[in-house]
Amino acid sequence: MIANNLKRLINQISRYEYEAGRQPNSVLLLAVSKTKPASDIIAAYQAGQRHFGENYLQEALQKQRLLGAFDISWHFIGPIQSNKTKLIAQHFAWVHSVDSFKIAQRLSAQRPDGLPPLNVLIQVNISDETSKSGIQLAELPELSQRIMELPNLRLRGVMSIPAPEVDYANQCKPFRQLHSAVTALNQQAFDTFSYGMSGDLKAAIHEGSTLVRIGTALFGARD
Ligand SMILES: *Cc1c(COP(=O)(O)O)cnc(C)c1O
Repeated sequence: MIANNLKRLINQISRYEYEAGRQPNSVLLLAVSKTKPASDIIAAYQAGQRHFGENYLQEALQKQRLLGAFDISWHFIGPIQSNKTKLIAQHFAWVHSVDSFKIAQRLSAQRPDGLPPLNVLIQVNISDETSKSGIQLAELPELSQRIMELPNLRLRGVMSIPAPEVDYANQCKPFRQLHSAVTALNQQAFDTFSYGMSGDLKAAIHEGSTLVRIGTALFGARD
């Protein structure tokens, strides 16, 4: 089932890239494996998937221990508490959920020598006023300038989780707003727009996503 889902998702991504007039392979698929067992990750890996996203640190570390022999790029996508930054800096290649300078500073200071810079994204709260995660769009220019000066981080762009919408046009709106605001910053270092999940994949790709985070459509519903 997971291999079939992966194949279908890769085909969908290609089709949406084409429909949107985008380059083939300009959108990376991140497999979001939170709450799913390591055996599901292995099934996706054997079908060719290499990038996996986790939200909960202890759960992620447990899976990483089981899967140490696999060539996986691990992405941390959940909320970050200060006391978790050290393990995140040690055990991940990407962090999508940076939403303060303090967290960025800790990640940079705690990134082990000998590892490449940690790829980070700033989480922007684009439509969901009730959620505490993510900065406001207006804060992005200043925070990105400050984070770019940190030595052991590589700021790659932004991540967002808009409020769920069923209607396609309503799904597009926040993505378009974020994409045009970030593009207007003209920040050469930014090459990553992390948005789009199982329910809004098409809208996200049409509105410039370069990285979609897919859980349910790949691994099935979570309990
Ligand atoms: C769970 C989660 C996803 C995946 O959501 P699905 O709707 O299951 O595809 C993507 N991004 C984040 C930050 C998540 O927590």
